[in-house]
Amino acid sequence: MYSSFKTKLQQLSEIGQKRAFPEISHSGKWIEQNEQRLLNLSSNDYLGLAADNQLLAAFLSQIKDSEIPLTSSSSRLLTGNFPIYAELEQRIANDFQREACLLFNSGYHANIGILPAVADRNTLIVADKLVHASLIDGIRLAECKWLRYRHNDYQHLADILAKQASRYERIIIVTESVFSMDGDIADLATLIQLKRQYQNVLLYVDEAHAVGVFGKNGLGIAEQQNCIAEIDFLVGTFGKALASMGAYVVCDQVIKDYLINTMRPLIFSTALPPFNVAWTNFLWQQLPQLQSQREHLAQLSQRLRYFIQQELGQPMPSSTNVVPYIIGDNQQTVIIATQLQQNGLYALPIRPPTVPKGTARIRFSLTAAIIDEELTQLIEVLRVVQQQRMENLE
Ligand SMILES: *Cc1c(COP(=O)(O)O)cnc(C)c1O
Repeated sequence: MYSSFKTKLQQLSEIGQKRAFPEISHSGKWIEQNEQRLLNLSSNDYLGLAADNQLLAAFLSQIKDSEIPLTSSSSRLLTGNFPIYAELEQRIANDFQREACLLFNSGYHANIGILPAVADRNTLIVADKLVHASLIDGIRLAECKWLRYRHNDYQHLADILAKQASRYERIIIVTESVFSMDGDIADLATLIQLKRQYQNVLLYVDEAHAVGVFGKNGLGIAEQQNCIAEIDFLVGTFGKALASMGAYVVCDQVIKDYLINTMRPLIFSTALPPFNVAWTNFLWQQLPQLQSQREHLAQLSQRLRYFIQQELGQPMPSSTNVVPYIIGDNQQTVIIATQLQQNGLYALPIRPPTVPKGTARIRFSLTAAIIDEELTQLIEVLRVVQQQRMENLE
């Protein structure tokens, strides 16, 4: 019965692409594995908030009884709506100076739910080639035509719009702001300019990697690029820099109302626990004060990118704290990840199909909890690893 599953797993194993959960435990910014303590260089805890026990203690000491339930027991449309939801939504909408905000259980839920809700047979979705798997799944669930433009290639996008705009009632451009694997950034101003040339084009931006990290108040690339008001669907998540769980869209009230009436992952799934939403609400209020963490993170990231580019001679797509060290070969990438681990550095190999074939890499995602000395250590280890690679090639 199961032989085809077994065969497939065997094939994945042979090409170095079989996945398994790592056996690890956590202690702040450290990972423990086989009784060894490793610096976590693959964390999405970009501001170091998840590793901050004082912050957790401060939250626990001020939480109200009404926020304590660890379950909502239901969808928000039935009995699962608690006041803390509306409070956080109002706060986020105010901070972005937009009409409305709607919360979701996760970024994955947001991305597989919003697009199918707003797209119909007269809609065309045009997405960047490198958008996250959750957006691809959302596009697939939306029963509409879709096209992809070459990564960050806005001329290509402009050509598609010029050709297609008159053929559809509505076109939705879909992009991330910071891209997950290359750490590069979309030019939202250009996207908005393109959108303005048409009556029927909407813009959807996923800021999962950017919220908390960019912008004066930590509101993301849209804040940094000063274009919050013109994004139709501004999505962010709480699972990364916000050290919590869940996601939001910032939008106009009519869009919010429409999603409440049509978005299946919102309607048919139990809402987040109020306790968790209260934690998000607590952390969200810290965001404007975390400028020194953002600056420290930017400095660390700049140093690592510069090293990989200048001293290891690799083209560097990233301009963020997501920094790829591209090896190419799958097995070689796994070997280098193991070498790093032997040196107390936990960084994960990323292989196809997550990234394009032949671009297997170590994906560093730096956090503000990392100190300068630790980055120096990483750089020294990378220098040795690279030397060995070069010797092996000769
Ligand atoms: C992590 C991520 C998501 C998924 O968010 P979750 O809250 O983890 O489900 C969506 N989009 C992008 C770009 C992401 O990196």
